[in-house]
Amino acid sequence: MAVTIYYENDVNPEVIKGKKVAIIGYGSQGHAHALNLMDSGVDVRVGLREGSKSWAKAEEAGLKVMLEDEAAEEADVIMILIPDELQPEVYEQHIAPHLHAGDTLAFAHGFNIHYGYIKAPEDVNVIMCAPKGPGHIVRRQFTEGSGVPDLACVAQDATGDAWDIAMSYCWGVGGARSGIIKATFAQETEEDLFGEQAVLCGGVCELIHAGFDTLPELAYFECYHEMKMIVDLMYESGIHFMNYSISNTAEYGEYYAGPKVINEQSREAMKEILTRIQNGEFAKEFVADCKNGHKWLFEQREAINNHEIEKTGAKIRDMFSWVKSDEE
Ligand code: NAD
Ligand code: MG
Ligand code: MG
Repeated sequence: MAVTIYYENDVNPEVIKGKKVAIIGYGSQGHAHALNLMDSGVDVRVGLREGSKSWAKAEEAGLKVMLEDEAAEEADVIMILIPDELQPEVYEQHIAPHLHAGDTLAFAHGFNIHYGYIKAPEDVNVIMCAPKGPGHIVRRQFTEGSGVPDLACVAQDATGDAWDIAMSYCWGVGGARSGIIKATFAQETEEDLFGEQAVLCGGVCELIHAGFDTLPELAYFECYHEMKMIVDLMYESGIHFMNYSISNTAEYGEYYAGPKVINEQSREAMKEILTRIQNGEFAKEFVADCKNGHKWLFEQREAINNHEIEKTGAKIRDMFSWVKSDEE
């Protein structure tokens, strides 16, 4: 499938500069979108709930802050950046009552639109600007002069220029510097969930843990700390360059051991994960756990936070002054 990628010369920044933008939520993505848009010269306000801990932080950063209802009422483009599982309720209570014909509802992930948990009125645009990176990196790379690539999608084009708005919004958060990729809500939702589950978060963390459980002594350095260096080489110049940089011994071991660890059974498991994403079973299960107070999620989080490798890692990282942390 041909992928269409747009860069700065393909985008009209004036489209988003001519709109009032509301960012609902000031977490990982929220702070990055709001600050990057502000620095790009866009008229942006942050909408938060009463008593939000983020209120002072956003104001100190120079942003206009108001209640969600006020921000939604004032804005032409309303970007919802609160956790996916809270979005349907906040949308119903604080956003839907303020949507006017021709407004644009925006998301950074397609979950609620794709699986039908949020149904927007027909006379508003529904767009997505999904940065392909964590919020703190979206902000960090923007301030460094680069940017995280974005997926831009339109689910509903009520005004006829929803694409221009989506692309221009992506420009404002820095996406045009490294590429805006045109996609659909279905593609973004399924591919984002698959990537984070099978490879990026699920796959990598479990791989590191399995390495540590097999070889606890030096595993932090061998299987955790070096992960970034290997991935950096792949990211900068490709797997072939990573293979060129490592020893022949390591490269031989890679070809010999890789397919034993990630084998036919792992591929079957990946297919099953993709099927459950595509048929909506994963979404249903996730939403049910949210309604149950995140019981399963919190149990797993507790277990992973208490894993021996996290304690070992925390001590070692303390000694690396060059490892930056955005943890708050
Ligand atoms: P988050 O958990 O970091 O932040 C959510 C923010 O919303 C917090 O500041 C929280 O206090 C606030 N909030 C919670 N309830 C609220 C309410 N009722 N009203 C107003 N604010 C409320 O969220 P996130 O990880 O940035 O995710 C936001 C969206 O971005 C999701 O759709 C997610 O899938 C998507 N996304 C996230 C990332 C990422 O890097 N985390 C990457 C791509 C896409
Ligand atoms: Mg995601
Ligand atoms: Mg080695």
